[in-house]
Amino acid sequence: MVQPEVELCEVCQKAQATVHLCQAVANHPQKMTSQDYCEECYRQREAAAGREAEILPTEIGACYYCGNPAKIGGPNTGPALKIRKQKYHWKCGPCLQLYGTLLKMELTGKAADLSEAEAENRLAALISRVDDQVRQMVGKT
Ligand SMILES: [Zn+2]
Ligand SMILES: [Zn+2]
Repeated sequence: MVQPEVELCEVCQKAQATVHLCQAVANHPQKMTSQDYCEECYRQREAAAGREAEILPTEIGACYYCGNPAKIGGPNTGPALKIRKQKYHWKCGPCLQLYGTLLKMELTGKAADLSEAEAENRLAALISRVDDQVRQMVGKT
């Protein structure tokens, strides 16, 4: 797998992507989306959806997993916010890749017949497990 150094915004394909939105829909794992936006396109997206864009701090933080300088971040929402207790989920390139791969593996094949609350709990457990796995793989346990 060859990773480009700089990931470009998926919308304009011009600016460097700094916002990573990963949305896992509790009852519909197959609907998980993972998209990278530049700040401008992210704002436009939120505005189009009638939402206030989460303003990302101008300083990019350290990678949530390995502590190296992060490349991209996204707001933590729902169960992810409960688990990580941080407003933003910062990731460096390699950790982002690992996280995406593991999360997809975990989500694949999970049954959908759960109540909203059960699904939320399961999603929370899953996120926490994937976070631990990424940390282990980058040697920060
Ligand atoms: Zn853009
Ligand atoms: Zn990292």
